[in-house]
Amino acid sequence: MAPSVVIVGGGVMGAAAAWRLAARGHRVTVLERFGPGHDRGSSHGSSRIFRLTYADPWYVGLALRALPLWQRLEEESGRPVLTVTGAIDHGSPRVVGELAATLAAAGRPGQVLSPAEAAERWPGLRSDTAVLHHAEGGRLHADDAVAALLAAASGLGADVRHGVRVRGVRPTGSGVTVGTDQGGPVVADAAVVAVGGWSPSVLPDVVDGLPPLRVTQEQPLHFAVDGALEWPAFVHHPGAGFDEPGGVYGLGSADGVKVGFHAVGPVVDPDLRDRTPDPVAVDRLEAYVRTWLPGLAQAVSEPVTCLYTSTPDHDFVVDRRGPVTVLAGFSGHGFKFAPVIGELAADLVEGRPGARRFALGRALPGTVG
Ligand SMILES: Cc1cc2nc3c(=O)[nH]c(=O)nc-3n(C[C@H](O)[C@H](O)[C@H](O)COP(=O)(O)OP(=O)(O)OC[C@H]3O[C@@H](n4cnc5c(N)ncnc54)[C@H](O)[C@@H]3O)c2cc1C
Repeated sequence: MAPSVVIVGGGVMGAAAAWRLAARGHRVTVLERFGPGHDRGSSHGSSRIFRLTYADPWYVGLALRALPLWQRLEEESGRPVLTVTGAIDHGSPRVVGELAATLAAAGRPGQVLSPAEAAERWPGLRSDTAVLHHAEGGRLHADDAVAALLAAASGLGADVRHGVRVRGVRPTGSGVTVGTDQGGPVVADAAVVAVGGWSPSVLPDVVDGLPPLRVTQEQPLHFAVDGALEWPAFVHHPGAGFDEPGGVYGLGSADGVKVGFHAVGPVVDPDLRDRTPDPVAVDRLEAYVRTWLPGLAQAVSEPVTCLYTSTPDHDFVVDRRGPVTVLAGFSGHGFKFAPVIGELAADLVEGRPGARRFALGRALPGTVG
């Protein structure tokens, strides 16, 4: 009989692992604490950026592996998940130069434009340095993507259970026993734990070598404007007189043009945060928009809140200890890679080695080794 795998967490990573494991013939059970499409974690909402532009070829390679998997998910589920709008990067000329070079080295098309050329093409957006455009970037429909992943997994035989909270994951001699608050424990050959912002409270009892994880509440704004869906995805990189430490990202979505600072929010406990937006942060983001996004200057904005779970090196944790595979620390940039993370999780469950880059117990900045 095919091995059984219980997946804890039905956000985008647990859902992607469920799809890829079910596709390989495993008997999959997904246990998700909240209801379908809930907004308490990291994967909800109308949009996430898909882009190939990373200065680090490792992530370019992962994004290139993710692209056909997103397209396959659309075919299997019959739902649109990725809309290709193009994406732009601007800000620090050094960073933009590195991104252009890495994209070219990967053999993918990109175009460097002057600020004047960019303003002509995207009048809602201002830049003061060279702009890198790549046509393959776009918008992932976040809620639809999670629903499509779970539906595709169910279609392949996975048992997806919402409203079931896992109380503990215990490796046993022959597999795992997963305690739940409903219907008794679930026994399986292996577990995949993908609990997002709850990782610091769930994982230390299950695996060793977890890097310190910082859970923050982030707070992008949606600006309601006509033609929001035509906006490209964009990232404004810090440097060259633009001092916002993590930079600013944005993209068109069904809720308006989304704009957010990257990884600046307060540390929170996911169970205790009240999800109230910080008015000071809202003012600061609106001031950014008045300066850099003239197309949104008159638009009414609406905040949303969401969790980042960040590692010190911003690399993910995708590794296995005994029968337990961990998917954690997606550091505010994981969504675009989800189907590849599902593949990596399935490889680990099947006993193939993981990437050192994503290992538990890896050397971190400031540590020796
Ligand atoms: C504002 C914002 C903007 C972002 N923008 C981008 C972007 O443009 N591009 C990009 O690539 N990435 C982006 N990201 C990052 C991306 O969304 C995340 O990396 C990704 O959603 C993480 O998914 P996850 O499955 O790890 O976590 P989650 O979605 O939080 O899923 C974890 C799940 O585990 C469940 N759970 C927790 N504890 C238990 C338990 N005990 N029992 C059962 N279930 C449990 C939770 O309910 C939750 O559903 C953004 C994130 C945010 C917050």
